[in-house]
Amino acid sequence: MSPEIRFDKWNDLYAERTAALKSSAIRDLFIVASRPDIISFAGGMPDTRSLPIEIVIEATKKVLQKEGPAALQYGPSEGHLGLRKCVSKLMAENNMHVDTDEIIITDGGQQALDLLGKIFINPKDNILVEGPSYVGAIQAFSSYQAKITSLPLDENGLLIDSLVQALEDLKKRNQKAKFIYLVPSFSNPTGITLSLERRKALLKIIKKYDLLAIEDNPYDQLRFSEDKIPTLRSMDNSLIYMGTFSKIFSPGVRLGWVAAPKPIIEKLNFGKQAADLCSSSLTQRIVEEYFTSYPWEKYLKKQTELYKERRDVMLESLDKFFPSDAKWTKPGGGLFLWVTLPEFVNTAEMLAKSINEAKVAYVPGKAFFADDNGKNCMRLNFSYPNKEQISEGIKRLGKLIKSEIKLRQTFTDKLNLNND
Ligand code: PMP
Repeated sequence: MSPEIRFDKWNDLYAERTAALKSSAIRDLFIVASRPDIISFAGGMPDTRSLPIEIVIEATKKVLQKEGPAALQYGPSEGHLGLRKCVSKLMAENNMHVDTDEIIITDGGQQALDLLGKIFINPKDNILVEGPSYVGAIQAFSSYQAKITSLPLDENGLLIDSLVQALEDLKKRNQKAKFIYLVPSFSNPTGITLSLERRKALLKIIKKYDLLAIEDNPYDQLRFSEDKIPTLRSMDNSLIYMGTFSKIFSPGVRLGWVAAPKPIIEKLNFGKQAADLCSSSLTQRIVEEYFTSYPWEKYLKKQTELYKERRDVMLESLDKFFPSDAKWTKPGGGLFLWVTLPEFVNTAEMLAKSINEAKVAYVPGKAFFADDNGKNCMRLNFSYPNKEQISEGIKRLGKLIKSEIKLRQTFTDKLNLNND
């Protein structure tokens, strides 16, 4: 933060809600992680270098030739009908049946999170999330002054008993949760998928406690095997569902969507009118063209195979170079895995050394919790760095972590702290 910002003469003018606004650790790392001398596991970027750029040029040209004036004009706040039809079809292929008027197009999933916060959250409302959960969701809900509770996970996803416990605790205090937000498939940040058994149990609890649930599903189609678990929305159509074109096509088009019952869509529409009037008419048409006229699934499959190879290299390298008391997830899809180090390793404190000395960037785990957890954890992205960078980066990171552990052991031995 620059000195001018620290001595902010407008300080007394800001709305109370700005006290909860803070920069996301990932956004902060974006610049440093883009330096050519750094191997970055910090981003959440799909590999747009592997997209069929000629096809995108062709689709863009076609759109401008066919519908130039409309593509360069404002459009409806709920989104271009052609794209909503395309979303409805994509969802139907995934066993979720929604009409076009149950869909609103947003500027990526991130705007969907902001608009959902805008229409549902009053200050101090209780929101439940997985611990760890997507940092951008925590950031969006916090900006509406929510009280966020992170619920624990294991390798099969959310622990349902912890959800019941949280709901009962709230009940005792005469409170309710406004909603629960979940990334059930190949989650950001862990890569963990909620098992089918737990999905069924979760839906029972949601029903029993009359709890609104939001399913955010950007990574479902980045699957490394044929095993497919049905989405929560396909099992229960009272859920709010969020999708995005960022990971199955391009984050640069900034397009996502929400599918929800009509009254909710109407409120989101009012919120969107105030936010940006409408999403880009041009990119909505380019995405519509790409998803209706081209074999996008073939391109996505190729990209996913690349991610799988990179995940494999990352897992092998972790086995080889990380200390034996470190643990990590083994994601069956998506872009990320999650590493847990011995309790005393503080990954936020270690980051400066990692960037300056090892020249490796990662995201410290605490960013993904609404509470004090995750200090000894880190999120690693495997979709963007190439295989050589992954094995070299994990080697350097492993060396740094081992030296941190050794340093601690030297201290504990010397000061005899183990006898306390
Ligand atoms: N939800 C989740 C779970 C994400 O991981 C992301 C981005 N990485 C988003 C939403 C927002 O992405 P976008 O706005 O590009 O759709």
